[in-house]
Amino acid sequence: MSNARMPAVFIGHGSPMNALERNRYSDAWNALGAELPVPRAVLVVSAHWYVRGVAVTGGEHPRTIHDFYGFPRDLYRIRYEAPGDPQLARRLAEMLGTLDVALDDSWGFDHGAWSVLVHMYPDAEIPVLQLALDATRAADFHWAIGAALAPLRDDGVLVLGSGNVVHNLKLMDPYRSDPFDWARRFDEHVRDAIDRNDRDALVHPEAHPDGALAVPSPDHYLPLLYACALRTPDDPVTTVVDGMEAGSLSIRSIRVG
Ligand code: ZN
Repeated sequence: MSNARMPAVFIGHGSPMNALERNRYSDAWNALGAELPVPRAVLVVSAHWYVRGVAVTGGEHPRTIHDFYGFPRDLYRIRYEAPGDPQLARRLAEMLGTLDVALDDSWGFDHGAWSVLVHMYPDAEIPVLQLALDATRAADFHWAIGAALAPLRDDGVLVLGSGNVVHNLKLMDPYRSDPFDWARRFDEHVRDAIDRNDRDALVHPEAHPDGALAVPSPDHYLPLLYACALRTPDDPVTTVVDGMEAGSLSIRSIRVG
């Protein structure tokens, strides 16, 4: 492992079916995994672990969680058997200082993590931890936690936010291949805010006229902030892949550094 700072990424995971499919999105995630320096561990901040309080998976062998309903049987057969890293979990709890970070043994890898990791790191040899999103806190708190994780980058740990910039399940149309106008506008707004590193715009999605439709609940949006908060002035930001599933799920995925 070189001393170079590990990039951070945000992945728009979209439908759980992306775990099984080879498509433009999963191909891009696969290529990303091959391009990045090999991390010593991956810390996933997934939209699907959205709870009261801050917690990190602390076990040696976190289980694979199939947290969705009504999908094909093959999807429930997927196991992502990467090891955990209890020592890193303890270090992370210390790093977050005054916050009371729970070392959790009940959660594991949810599909926000594994539907992406099966493409990025198909061998499942790199240790993976998940960090929970504290649902009781506002966006600027999540930004601050993201920024506090900066030492992990120097330690070869890949921080991976997994959510969706636009995520509206109520309005999605499975037969639609182009975005709704409001979804496209908001997605482009966030793209531009990322480009100019506009923290205020990023932590206030509700300030945009399409924010209420694009971000009806914060869970899928917040993981983006962890990757953006880790950006340093000399970090380039590149688009890994973009697109919109079902009209209202943005797959925009970015690499920071
Ligand atoms: Zn999701």
